[in-house]
Amino acid sequence: MESVYDVVIIGGGIVGCSQVFTLTRLGYRCLLLEKEAHLVSMASSGNSGMLHTGFDAPLGSIELACILRCQQQVLPVIESLGLPYSKIGATMVAWNDQQKEKLPQVIQKAKNANMDDVLELSVSQLYQREPHVAHRATGALWIPREAVIDPWLTPISFAHHAKSLGAKVLTSTMVQGCERDSQGIWRVSTNRGLFRGRVVINSAGLYGDVVDKLAGVQKFRIMPRLGQYLVYGSETKSLINSSILPIPTDKTKGVIVFKSVYDNVIIGPTQEETERRTNPAGLSPRIMRSLLDHGRVSVPSLESHPVVNTYSGVRPATETKDYHVVPHTDRNWLTLGGIRSTGLSSCLGVADMVADIMKDKFCLEPSNSANMYLPRLDISFTNHRTARLGSEEYTVTHPITYTGKCNSKVWSNL
Ligand SMILES: Cc1cc2nc3c(=O)[nH]c(=O)nc-3n(C[C@H](O)[C@H](O)[C@H](O)COP(=O)(O)OP(=O)(O)OC[C@H]3O[C@@H](n4cnc5c(N)ncnc54)[C@H](O)[C@@H]3O)c2cc1C
Repeated sequence: MESVYDVVIIGGGIVGCSQVFTLTRLGYRCLLLEKEAHLVSMASSGNSGMLHTGFDAPLGSIELACILRCQQQVLPVIESLGLPYSKIGATMVAWNDQQKEKLPQVIQKAKNANMDDVLELSVSQLYQREPHVAHRATGALWIPREAVIDPWLTPISFAHHAKSLGAKVLTSTMVQGCERDSQGIWRVSTNRGLFRGRVVINSAGLYGDVVDKLAGVQKFRIMPRLGQYLVYGSETKSLINSSILPIPTDKTKGVIVFKSVYDNVIIGPTQEETERRTNPAGLSPRIMRSLLDHGRVSVPSLESHPVVNTYSGVRPATETKDYHVVPHTDRNWLTLGGIRSTGLSSCLGVADMVADIMKDKFCLEPSNSANMYLPRLDISFTNHRTARLGSEEYTVTHPITYTGKCNSKVWSNL
């Protein structure tokens, strides 16, 4: 049997990859276990790739706190590793007077979160910046710090760097049982044997409730929420200069017209309740039509361009809006659940919060010394949905990345 790890992380999505990155750099001996054949295969492989500033996140929430903590460091980290990003900014467009009346509330909400740079634009300022946006807007806001990143390469680089510092990352390894021995050490059983750890972090995303049950804790229920997208070729890149957001509601940020870090214009995501916890293949004709309509009425010139891809992702939503960051100090178990729609934007903030919890709640000191140096990674892509980081090959699982870098189609229904 292997020696005892400081931390066993269950789940290799963006949340798990960020934990292994931060904790390994701090000197913790980490083991990450992922049930799928590839990292970043579930919720994290179907998002928009946007780094939100949190301007519309609920005040006082764990979500906002983590986004703000992440914002302080994520772009410098991404830059040090040599990963792509674009500080494209976002324009929120009101399409009628009722929506325009809501703009001051959005500015106030951003101000309450100490974001003073969200500005109202006149309609003529909007069209100077975004000449291809439909000429029927009644008002707009400019949110300058919204950015886009590569949503696959970022978490993969985090896990890759952690491995280079000594972390163990196992894919095709499903956690099936967890119990503590008489010394309080966790015995984590999987299809590939037994592993031991002082603390276990549940970052199982869409299966977070199922994995919590393995430790005898159950605080939330996953209520999957599907989001679907259309992707255009990069020849559409000049049609928008920023992400075009609708006015958010309490439930959703709404359907966005945005540009990936690789210049593909994308429309989505939808918000649909679903029973499924896995990404469905292909879009229904109804959703396809509604997204095409959204594009046509928001940026009419998109209509003359072909859709080159579609994709979908399932959010690990729960019955409550906020994240579930719950340290179970009686059993050295940490739940990171319900990180539903901003996990990319908050990833390093969640990991910092976890590092605090390791010390303050679990009184766990790292076994090794810290190593905070970040090397520039040597990265290359092939046309076969693979990428090389140094001497290791990884399968690209996110459509934004493989449409942008590997020129390959996602679904066969196009
Ligand atoms: C449509 C959509 C749009 C989004 N847009 C954005 C955006 O633009 N910006 C943003 O910041 N966020 C966005 N998000 C949110 C973000 O993608 C999520 O917050 C994030 O992916 C959640 O990551 P996770 O690691 O918790 O979950 P997951 O990615 O689901 O990872 C959990 C992992 O745990 C593994 N696992 C489960 N059970 C076990 C087990 N028993 N043993 C071993 N492994 C197990 C799974 O296989 C999975 O790989 C979006 C999400 C969706 C779906």
